Amino acid sequence: MPSKTESSQPILATSDLHVHYGKVHAVQGVSIEIRAGEVVALLGANGAGKSSIIRSLVGLTPVTGGSVVFRDQRINQLSSDARTRLGMAYVPEGRRVFGDLTVRENLQMGGYVVGARSQVEQRIEEVYGLFSRLKERHRQLAATLSGGEQQMLAIGRALVRSPDVLLLDEPSLGLAPVMIKVIYETLMRIRERGMTLLLAEQSAHIALKIADRAYVLETGRVNYAGDAAALRSDPALRESYLGA
Ligand code: ATP
Repeated sequence: MPSKTESSQPILATSDLHVHYGKVHAVQGVSIEIRAGEVVALLGANGAGKSSIIRSLVGLTPVTGGSVVFRDQRINQLSSDARTRLGMAYVPEGRRVFGDLTVRENLQMGGYVVGARSQVEQRIEEVYGLFSRLKERHRQLAATLSGGEQQMLAIGRALVRSPDVLLLDEPSLGLAPVMIKVIYETLMRIRERGMTLLLAEQSAHIALKIADRAYVLETGRVNYAGDAAALRSDPALRESYLGA
């Protein structure tokens, strides 16, 4: 895993990003910045455009306007594999682990772009250090894990790539509160190691617990960009941007 990054330069950014699905204009000119070492929350109701932004950052959804920039490089045209090699890893909504593979095999799959097998094995051990449940269940088929354990596995699979930036789409979705707590405590440990995180969540109160900054989206546009602490603690701000 990377050491703590000092820089406050954006590691990943969008500028005037647009995404269309046919006539649906899902993302309408969104500019966001994620600086090295930060945890950034992307908040908004169902359908606000969070997944579309994350998927366009990792190269799974084509952009129809604007740019995606990684460090100083415009990466609009790069494949998702090429973006993985640059240092981005993605944990999709709904986890999508390989159900008929074991926990260990899923983690090994995560390492396919990393290269040397010994390096992958070392990173798998690091993932087991973060999620002891995965170690206990390393021979178990992923389909037989609980939802929370599958989320741990999806995060672990991304961490095997030792990314500079980890992008997570709704990691708390459908999980029991106790599991959400475990997942978020681990995300905090990951950020303490210097990894940069972008976190899309409908549940603002959960994401704001660990975020440094937040963007609130409404129908494909950013309507709040700023300090997460302010959004967390100021009732008037919460009321106007989060409706709660
Ligand atoms: P959710 O939490 O439900 O995933 P979201 O904030 O991530 O919501 P998106 O999934 O990015 O939002 O969806 C943004 C808009 O784009 C919505 O109106 C959605 O219906 C539409 N949309 C998303 N994917 C497609 C698609 N493949 N085809 C057509 N419309 C889509």
